[in-house]
Amino acid sequence: MIIKGGLLALPGKQELVRSNVRVADGRIAEIGTDIVPSQGEDVVDADGLHIFPGAIDPHVHFDTPGFEHREDFTHGSMAAARGGVTTIVDMPCTSLPPVTSVKNFKEKFSHVGKASVIDFALYGGVSGHIADECIRTNMAELAPYVVGFKTYFISGMDTFTQINHYDFARAVAKAHEIGRPLLLHAEDLDYITHATRAVQDAARALVAAGKAPAPVEAAGAKPVAGYGAAGPAAPGTWADYVAARPEAAERVAAATALMLAHGHESALHVVHVGTAEVAVFLAAGGATCETCPHFLAFSSADFDRLGASLKTAPPVKSPGHAERLWKLLADGSINFVTSDHAPAPDEEKHTGSIWTDYGGIPGTGTLFPYVYSEGYRAGKLTLPRFLEVISTGAAQRFGLAARKGAIEVGKDADMVFVDPDATYVVKGDELLSKGSITPFEGMRLRGAVEKTYVRGAPVWDSTDGIVVEPGNGTYLQWGYK
Ligand SMILES: [Zn+2]
Repeated sequence: MIIKGGLLALPGKQELVRSNVRVADGRIAEIGTDIVPSQGEDVVDADGLHIFPGAIDPHVHFDTPGFEHREDFTHGSMAAARGGVTTIVDMPCTSLPPVTSVKNFKEKFSHVGKASVIDFALYGGVSGHIADECIRTNMAELAPYVVGFKTYFISGMDTFTQINHYDFARAVAKAHEIGRPLLLHAEDLDYITHATRAVQDAARALVAAGKAPAPVEAAGAKPVAGYGAAGPAAPGTWADYVAARPEAAERVAAATALMLAHGHESALHVVHVGTAEVAVFLAAGGATCETCPHFLAFSSADFDRLGASLKTAPPVKSPGHAERLWKLLADGSINFVTSDHAPAPDEEKHTGSIWTDYGGIPGTGTLFPYVYSEGYRAGKLTLPRFLEVISTGAAQRFGLAARKGAIEVGKDADMVFVDPDATYVVKGDELLSKGSITPFEGMRLRGAVEKTYVRGAPVWDSTDGIVVEPGNGTYLQWGYK
């Protein structure tokens, strides 16, 4: 097959290049202006379109098996494909059982192995309640199956608990030894526990004094279990939620993590960083980190307008951080962008209390469109840097770069076709995710994804939608080549 007439985003090039691509056996076989179709060879006309490497989203919660009322692997992967993502890496904690042993991995794989429409890899995890067993045996046993290990300094999940400092230091040393990154949700438990208590006490006092309304629980509201679970029902405003999980909690956690990783800093990867100082500190210390579109697009000042649709854990930061995060992304201090895709149904997003509303949003479908429009097209990211933050960087960090992350001869033909002149208006109920409540609702973005190809075959296009069956996606292991 030949893809003809498009402008290509090639590694190392400062501008898009008009050229043709020959795809054979799912891989990029040839790139050049003088490629001529052989007898009977298919030709795809990409005239007027810009072609980018498929985006890689290495931070999603597809919730299979166990929490499929929020998201499942098939819907999550369809939403990813619709947004130009061709490879995802799924977190170990929001499925039952969590991926903390080979036995649990096999259980999860029996559910997800044939469920994805795009390529996927999995993380293992080190849960606090079984940390010793994980560090002594399970991490090394799981290493062939996973591309990293997730840990939490604070967790709302009964089935995947936070790790103590001693075990974290052991886990990062083990990760270094076995050659996998250790991922950390960096918010300090002690700080947040006390901040939350103080904020909730003050809110209760206001209610008792008749100066604020008591919370009204939504009809049929259930306590939220699993990822994003929050504290007890209490009165509160969105400002209270932000004050209960402040930037200081992220600074303390990241500093602690880097010090505990002493000697093994290169194994540390901090997820969903929203606080600019944290990214600066981690980069200087030799660790890697990611940020997410919601931290780049919104601030805590947007809660009044957007409410629970903006609730994530950690929350978006105070005004000013987003502008600095863009600069840190541009200069390489932040390595790449991920979605932290974690949708939930309306009854969990709007429970009547800001404390129990689910903390998570469907993000994998807006990742590429947002960063393409507001990063690359808006001039905040150069073309080479855009390619790194949307694809190459994650491929390199998670052991997939031999075949993923660039339009290059020998690599998988994972590509996004973008109509640069179109406008994409985000609509939650068109994302193909099970979750439709997004803070990006109604946002107008430059350019629109027209087609998504995985290993040389179309998976989604703007006319026919998803054109493959679940199971189209290949399971990727570290070092995939
Ligand atoms: Zn997450």
